[in-house]
Amino acid sequence: LMQLFRPLDLLGWVYRTIRQGLVDMAEMFRLIDTETEVEDAPGAPALVVRRPSLAFENVAFGYDPDRQILDGLSFEVPAGSTLAIVGPSGAGKSTIARLLFRFYDPQEGRILIDGQDIAGVTQDSLRAAIGIVPQDAVLFNDTLAYNIAYGAEGADNAVIKRAARDAALMPLVERLPERFATTVGERGMKLSGGEKQRVAIARTLVKDPPILLLDEATSALDTRTEQEILATLKRIARGRTTIAIAHRLSTIADADRIIVLDHGRMHESGTHGELLTAGGLYAEMWARQASEKGEGVERDGAADR
Ligand code: ATP
Repeated sequence: LMQLFRPLDLLGWVYRTIRQGLVDMAEMFRLIDTETEVEDAPGAPALVVRRPSLAFENVAFGYDPDRQILDGLSFEVPAGSTLAIVGPSGAGKSTIARLLFRFYDPQEGRILIDGQDIAGVTQDSLRAAIGIVPQDAVLFNDTLAYNIAYGAEGADNAVIKRAARDAALMPLVERLPERFATTVGERGMKLSGGEKQRVAIARTLVKDPPILLLDEATSALDTRTEQEILATLKRIARGRTTIAIAHRLSTIADADRIIVLDHGRMHESGTHGELLTAGGLYAEMWARQASEKGEGVERDGAADR
């Protein structure tokens, strides 16, 4: 009987290992969806970022030739400022992130970082310049230190510790039996959604990129954790150029500029105040979300009793 079980056991182990591997890959490449299609131009130089300004110039893109997703999109993000992108589901928000990471090239137009067309620089240098804080951070089954340093091999302990402190992760570290050496992830200490998010923030801080891409960074958290994480994100965004892709408008109300995307076009743009005054799509979305929130509060109140 044992002889029958052992191969099954092994099979189970292989299956779990592969599955975990896939989860990790999915996390790292969540933005891709498909195999990356672009290649470095021969002899392409590295991107050199002195002032991390960012611009989309007339960018047109579709995954399939017969369906345009972005339709001549132009916007600028001055160095050090925060741009939020909002809009209905399917409007093309994540597509902007994928193009910025150069998982695809636009069919028309250019994307510039500090004046350099990202299609003409090495992908490694481009991706090193951009840090992502994803929506659902998945951890590797390894130590907390490994998880924080991931992607920046050779980061020393002092850097890891500083990143953990800046990501407000120290209260967690203090609680872990072996502090930074504690195994976390599916087979180790389970972390809460907020803690995982902080590990992702710390990971980004180790990388210390001039550009930040916040992809719906706070959508899976309760209100209080969300507020705390937002405060942390706001702090780490200082001095960096940030693009925040958001569903919930409350999280981006203080962005320097908000663009409202609809069907791959810029429907309107401005600050939160300007967009509310304009009374357009943004104001409509704001009113709708405010009323949903109101209902949510009532429900929470009822649950407390
Ligand atoms: P959401 O708010 O729901 O995340 P979004 O604004 O981020 O939406 P995108 O993910 O950019 O929207 O998608 C824009 C459109 O492109 C959608 O209609 C989507 O179905 C389509 N799309 C996204 N990825 C692919 C792909 N890999 N191949 C083909 N079509 C895609």
